[in-house]
Amino acid sequence: MENITASELAGFGVGTLLFCATIAAPKIDALISASQRSSLGMCKRCGDLKMIACSKCKGVGLIKDGPLSFSLGDESFQSLGGRQAKVGSISCTRCQAKGHMCCPDCSKSP
Ligand SMILES: [Zn+2]
Ligand SMILES: [Zn+2]
Repeated sequence: MENITASELAGFGVGTLLFCATIAAPKIDALISASQRSSLGMCKRCGDLKMIACSKCKGVGLIKDGPLSFSLGDESFQSLGGRQAKVGSISCTRCQAKGHMCCPDCSKSP
């Protein structure tokens, strides 16, 4: 083991760390291209999660209240003091406040 220098050991350690960091990176999903997904039989759109983030609320499930948001006829919300809470956020109606919805690609194919 004497022929392995300290710098080689250090380099090996750094390399291992970098490798581990790459594996654990949350952006690993981005490394899997759409073509790879389809070749793996995965949905190109959602990666087989069967759901996609809601584009209206950006996956949050809530929308910052706006003038148009209150013309949805949600009377129960208004009866809960919605008028006073007008400046706030309301549940997203597109995704039922879940922040995600069924993947259209998955739902149309069996
Ligand atoms: Zn939504
Ligand atoms: Zn899908």
